[in-house]
Amino acid sequence: MTAHDSDSTAESGNSGNAALTRRWQRTLMDNYGTPRIPITHGEGARLWDADGREYLDFVGGIAVNSLGTGHPAVVRAVSDQIALLGHVSNLFVAEPPVALAERLLRLFGRPGRVYFSNSGAEAVEAAFKIGRRTGRTHLVATHGGFHGRTMGALALTGQPGKRDPFLPLPGEVTHVPYGDADALRAAVTGETALVILEPVQGESGVIVPPEGYLAAAREITAATGTLLVLDEVQTGIGRTGHWFACQAEGVEPDVVTLAKGLGAGLPIGATVAFGEAAELLTPGQHGSTFGGNPVACAAALAVLDTIESEGLLDHVKRVGNRLRDAVWALGHPLVDQVRGAGLLLGIVLTEPVAPRVQQAAQDAGLLVNACAPDVIRLAPPLIISEDEADTLVRALPAVLDTVDGTRRAGD
Ligand code: PMP
Repeated sequence: MTAHDSDSTAESGNSGNAALTRRWQRTLMDNYGTPRIPITHGEGARLWDADGREYLDFVGGIAVNSLGTGHPAVVRAVSDQIALLGHVSNLFVAEPPVALAERLLRLFGRPGRVYFSNSGAEAVEAAFKIGRRTGRTHLVATHGGFHGRTMGALALTGQPGKRDPFLPLPGEVTHVPYGDADALRAAVTGETALVILEPVQGESGVIVPPEGYLAAAREITAATGTLLVLDEVQTGIGRTGHWFACQAEGVEPDVVTLAKGLGAGLPIGATVAFGEAAELLTPGQHGSTFGGNPVACAAALAVLDTIESEGLLDHVKRVGNRLRDAVWALGHPLVDQVRGAGLLLGIVLTEPVAPRVQQAAQDAGLLVNACAPDVIRLAPPLIISEDEADTLVRALPAVLDTVDGTRRAGD
């Protein structure tokens, strides 16, 4: 036992949730400023906390754990690869990143090049740099859009609360209302390097744009020689029931950013560029020590294999539609709308009580995410079963009643 182990054991008494909570509060810089549940392990779409309590997971690591926890294909791919070659510098080349790039380009059905990194924000940073290489400096992004917390990605993010503490941010960025093709047309000129959009805005409340918006963005950017960057960090890799959300509308962007669900929990980001956009960054202009790590790429290949072999795109459409329709059919007075695509769903509440709904759900053994004051986001593992989805639907009226009842009592 090391000094550190004995320290933490003495402090934690008989261990469990309270002990781990005390320890993280002293040591970690908090991401979200909300209570965290100490999670120790999982299986499929279920997770357990440090007191041994079981939860059904509709957060999915925020759309990351596409195959849940401990999927045999991922476990095998990761352990085989780390035994074979865990890391090699990008001064060399290994099979997994090449195979993954080929595979992604095949799924898009277009020639291009892939830049691998370690997160969504980094995937966006690479897209930002590709934009710079057009020789233009103006950028267009959307209100409410979320693209990451590094400085370039934050400059594109359209959420003042996240931006304001870090001003000034790089780039000449115009933010336009999301879903409004006319506003986009008015903002984009022959000086605009790129437009960046999410096919569905995830972080700001699972906001689905009007049909035809992505196609309009494609037409507007094509007319001005502007790159269309689709940020599919959250919507990509089967989340909406398509490999990529842009394929549902038949839109071909110049650049796509991916991360989250790609690596089944291993850190990986990918910036996929097509046509001329694929040639803008020349060797030496951008790079990363860990990007294209063989283990992360092997995990991603296992994810893509499994989505194919288990027919998960159809499964996601079927379970997602069933879940959306069943939650709406509850007719609960606190539910204003259920929106989204596939297994990226937002339960829109009539009141800004999403954090309380999240807590009540957690008390009932269900993990959901209040991503906006009035929106509960569901982004479970893609492998979640119909039975597991039905469990949430059955429990939801009592969960919502708890919050609705206390709200009335407090009125
Ligand atoms: N883009 C989108 C659309 C996202 O949803 C996120 C993460 N929520 C990011 C970028 C940033 O990803 P990361 O946290 O891996 O940097």
